Amino acid sequence: MSLKCGWKDCEYNVPEILKVVDDGNERVILCPNHMVGYALDIQGDLSEEHYPLPITRLKSGIPFKPVCEITRDAGVVFRDIDGRAEFHLSKENLAKLVLRKLNPSDYKLLISNKNRNQDTFELHDDFYDSEGVQMQD
Ligand SMILES: [Zn+2]
Repeated sequence: MSLKCGWKDCEYNVPEILKVVDDGNERVILCPNHMVGYALDIQGDLSEEHYPLPITRLKSGIPFKPVCEITRDAGVVFRDIDGRAEFHLSKENLAKLVLRKLNPSDYKLLISNKNRNQDTFELHDDFYDSEGVQMQD
């Protein structure tokens, strides 16, 4: 497996904290910076200069279609490259997670998953208070 960000010309070189998004058809590997770009694209908030998104798309690594933990809609697997933390989310909720814009009930649902590593970066308590309210960024 290629252990580098799939965004064209990315020079990020800390493979330990790369992120993987896999929808059961295709898989992309992105650094934290470009994961933000990917999330902004989902929300329609990326400036035109980025299109088409310059991302290398790989064959899916999972044999199933993920279902969102929040909405139960079709979704993607979003995980750390080492599998330390994994979420199954619709693309819209993936964008909210990455951009730290989950609403309190969705935050509580995700943090209550007993299979989840509670040290998950995306749910860090610097980003949300104990009621799941987004902190000022
Ligand atoms: Zn990158």
